Amino acid sequence: MRIVEHLIGGGRVAGGTRTKDIFNPSTGEVQASVQLGTKGDLDRAVDLAKGAQPGWAATNPQKRARVMFEYKRLVEARMDELAELLSSEHGKVLADARGDVQRGLDVIEFACGIPHVLKGEYTQGAGPGIDVYSMRQPLGIGAGITPFNFPAMIPMWMFGVSIACGNAMIIKPSERDPSVPMRLGELMLEAGAPEGILQVVNGDKEMVDAILDHPDIAGVSFVGSSDIAHYVYRRGVDAGKRVQAMGGAKNHGIVLPDADMDQVVNDLSGAAFGSAGERCMALPVVVPVGRKTADDLRDAMIPAIEKLRIGVSTDPDADYGPVVTAEHRTRVENWIQTGVNEGADLVVDGRGFSMQGHESGFFMGPSLFDNVTPDMQSYKEEIFGPVLQIVRAESFEDALKLPSQHQYGNGVAIFTRNGHAAREFAQRVDVGMVGINVPIPVPIAYHSFGGWKRSAFGDHGQHGMEGVRFWTKLKTVTQRWPDGSGVGDENAFVIPTMG
Ligand code: NAD
Repeated sequence: MRIVEHLIGGGRVAGGTRTKDIFNPSTGEVQASVQLGTKGDLDRAVDLAKGAQPGWAATNPQKRARVMFEYKRLVEARMDELAELLSSEHGKVLADARGDVQRGLDVIEFACGIPHVLKGEYTQGAGPGIDVYSMRQPLGIGAGITPFNFPAMIPMWMFGVSIACGNAMIIKPSERDPSVPMRLGELMLEAGAPEGILQVVNGDKEMVDAILDHPDIAGVSFVGSSDIAHYVYRRGVDAGKRVQAMGGAKNHGIVLPDADMDQVVNDLSGAAFGSAGERCMALPVVVPVGRKTADDLRDAMIPAIEKLRIGVSTDPDADYGPVVTAEHRTRVENWIQTGVNEGADLVVDGRGFSMQGHESGFFMGPSLFDNVTPDMQSYKEEIFGPVLQIVRAESFEDALKLPSQHQYGNGVAIFTRNGHAAREFAQRVDVGMVGINVPIPVPIAYHSFGGWKRSAFGDHGQHGMEGVRFWTKLKTVTQRWPDGSGVGDENAFVIPTMG
């Protein structure tokens, strides 16, 4: 049995007496086991990070960027190996697993430009003989706590920017698919980052709590479900850390009567069911405006859903693979039952799906609900599975209210040919990321990712300039070099006004 340990210092080391099974979701078999580390394992990693970080921060940004260039080359060269490992533990199909790695690599590309973005601001002559300049300095030691659903992209969102800024990073991946983050850490060593600059500690709540309480960790980035995000945010901030904690989602797709219905159906099929719905930017709620739009959408969605092909993660023709664990499948099935109990119409029921030859795999057929209403619990909560809910709205204003009043505010999309309506929607909706005829509006790497409301706690988004702001401290210097001529020798007891 393969054992996943920790990456501490220059290589893999054992730690912790508890373990957890890692499944292959396509077969349902246990394929490996991950060691759940302890506070002692974290202390070892932090000590090494403390030793390495000052030298790394003092390495000029161009040289740090060169490590990022080499890292990009190495990850690209191992794309297939990483994608196979990723899909074998997560269950997403190979093409999607490559996308997971690629979206992380996009952030590494951004990090290759770090010398440019770290340049500070300068004002010459802010007062008599006075100049003001600012610089961005690394936080020191940062930690990233990541979810199961993007085991390559999300760690790279965090460590790509943080390391390039001069920090040391400790990643704590999801226990469900930790092997790719471990490989990503090893490749950083191969790319030339000093030992201790990127380390990976595996574990569960015990390790997360140790991170949140560790006095030498200055910043924590978390991505996962909202209750845990909120907990991580509170505990980390209480301990005096900078924390950004991204949470769950329930993204809506608004369909106006003038939308191109073929495009909508095609986009919705991918956005609701791709990766078995296990994406924080999936589109699990569709809001058609007007009765005719709703009826047309429902009539067109049913055959599109029935055509979806579910397969093992290595099947090149599969649209989506299994969900991550049997436990998660049960959870999604329970939400479907809740929806039925609450009175929504289950138009297509994906429960009880079995894959021939892979009867023990964690597969689920796609489900479609109609006449879901905002008071239903199955609407209010995140399901995180291959389930699409139709919530009918009578008008644009009604449709706008739904995502705006929902507890989550990660992403939203509007489908229309009307530029004015789209502009109005983007302006007024109370959600952090908006797509206009784009179903999954995940911002590209040099912009920033971040939801609103219970989808994100803390101030800064991930990657792009928001990432740089999160992983650095701003220092502002006001200087003067008096020449003895008396300029600037005003009364020192009065607050300087530069007047
Ligand atoms: P999760 O919250 O179960 O786990 C996330 C991390 O928290 C893992 O590393 C896990 O080990 C740790 N953790 C779990 N329980 C904990 C506890 N009680 N105390 C402390 N730490 C704990 O999330 P998941 O199931 O791995 O991922 C799916 C969730 O992540 C969904 O809610 C999804 O919407 C969300 N997500 C959000 C974004 C975003 O950017 N907003 C992106 C991806 C996923």
